[in-house]
Parts: sequence; C-alpha cells; structure tokens
Amino acid sequence: MSLLLILSGPSGAGKDALLTRMKELGVPFYYVVTSTTRPPRTGEKDGVEYTFVSESGFQDMLQRGDLIESAKVYGYWYGVPKHEVKQALDEGKDVVLKIDVQGAATIRNLLPGAVLVFLTLPSLEEYEKRLRQRKTESDTDLKVRLGRVNEELRSMLIFDYVVVNREDELDGAVDQIRAIVAAEKCRVNPRIVQFK
Ligand code: 5GP
Repeated sequence: MSLLLILSGPSGAGKDALLTRMKELGVPFYYVVTSTTRPPRTGEKDGVEYTFVSESGFQDMLQRGDLIESAKVYGYWYGVPKHEVKQALDEGKDVVLKIDVQGAATIRNLLPGAVLVFLTLPSLEEYEKRLRQRKTESDTDLKVRLGRVNEELRSMLIFDYVVVNREDELDGAVDQIRAIVAAEKCRVNPRIVQFK
C-alpha cells in the first residue's frame, strides 16, 4: 500500500533541508514538486524546488481542477499537482510533499488517508535564529513569519506524527521519517488515499 506523506510545519523548521537530505540518502519516495507564483530565489531552478508559474497560469490550473490543494502563503499562491500525485501512488510509490500548515489541514479533510508529519524545532528561539540565518526574507517578512510560527505550532494536534529537527541532527530526523514509514507499513488497517 502506497503512502502519501505530508511534510509540514512552520516556516524555518527545516522542511527543505530534511527533504534534500532524504534525497541524498536515497530514502525511497516520489518527491513531488509543487507549483508557485512566487519568483525563484537565487539558485532555485524551475522544476526542482518548485514549478514556477505566472498568476494567470496558476488560475488556469485551479480552474481546470489540476490541483489537489492550493493556498496563498505570504502573498503567493502554492498548489499540489493532482495528476502527478495520483499517478505516483497508482504506480505503487510512496509519495512525499511539502506544504504549509493550512495546506496540511486541507489535505486532512480531503484525503484522510494521508500521513501528516509535523516538523518542528526544539524552541521558538531556534525559529528566530534559523530564519535570520536563512536571510531569504526581508526584515518585515521575517517578523510576519515569526508571528505565524506561534500560531502554526498550535495546529500540531491535527497531525499524526511530530519530528523535532535538532541542530546538527538532520540525519536523526531522516531516521524518524524512515521509522514512521516502517510503522505505517505495519498497520493492521492500512490508510487508503482515495481521490474524489
Ligand atoms: P517557500 O516560499 O518558503 O518555499 O514556501 C512557503 C511555504 O509554502 C512553506 O511552508 C511551504 O511548505 C509551503 N508550500 C509549498 N508548496 C505548497 C503547496 O503546494 N501548498 C501549500 N499549502 N503550501 C505549500
């Protein structure tokens, strides 16, 4: 039975770093690239971090019903391609995708068979430190993101698992993801992801 694993958590929790490390270590997942209207950051490539689309291109996808879930995050649209996810699951692959906390809540309702993993840091101070180190946001954006962290931490209750991303222990977080997959594969009643 294929798993649909949703990796979510507040901005700065390290979702991208974790996914990059999982790929490096060859953790067997189909890694979904979601679409966004956000302009690429330095070094980001179309089709790698995201599929970068125009506002009108995104609206077309929405209207055609091409997206499982879509959300406006910090002023830009993000969305999960339905066809790609469905095909990978049909081929028997385990699928992982990275979305924000509101998107995870939407997926919880739409696809109750998905496995929701909340990635977080050990403390609020760690969030501030990491967001500052990342230097991808302006000061105002950073304040907005920090304010949201607090709010998003409260959403943890709708998730199935929580993984704490401790400093210099990224491989430990990868091990936890592997453990979650192993546990899910041992379920007496496997979760089933059914698209409407
Ligand atoms: P960033 O612009 O920093 O790459 O991403 C901003 C936030 O949008 C992150 O929390 C990321 O996980 C989330 N995100 C990326 N793709 C999607 C998506 O398809 N749907 C939703 N709801 N959030 C997404």
